[in-house]
Amino acid sequence: MTADRDPGCLFCRIVAGELPSTREHEDDAILAIRDIAPRAPTHILVLSKAHIPSAADLTEAHGPLLGRIFATAADLARREGIADRGYRVVTNVGAWGGQTVDHLHFHLMGGRALQWPPG
Ligand code: 5GP
Ligand code: ZN
Repeated sequence: MTADRDPGCLFCRIVAGELPSTREHEDDAILAIRDIAPRAPTHILVLSKAHIPSAADLTEAHGPLLGRIFATAADLARREGIADRGYRVVTNVGAWGGQTVDHLHFHLMGGRALQWPPG
């Protein structure tokens, strides 16, 4: 499911393998990669393969995609050994939400106690 591609998009280029990344999971719809600038001991990005600009563009039809993203995040958390103590799965929307890459992705963060609210 790579049809919706934006050639100028950083994460589309990572999905296509044009730019390197450390891949932790891949299937037909999603890709999980290590964040290049980790803010926690575990910091993995779970991306849609399709170019969806942000969570603001999601509809009910994306339900299966979102289910898979969250199930994969939970699997990765178990694999990372952070599931028992807890972790965070979060997505930023727009400039004031802290979004810097306009391609849907969820941050899986854990391995330390996280602050709330994030700031
Ligand atoms: P956002 O700020 O949009 O919520 O999240 C974007 C994330 O992508 C940031 O945590 C940033 O460190 C990460 N990032 C930016 N460029 C790259 C890259 O080239 N490779 C990887 N793996 N992560 C990146
Ligand atoms: Zn993209």
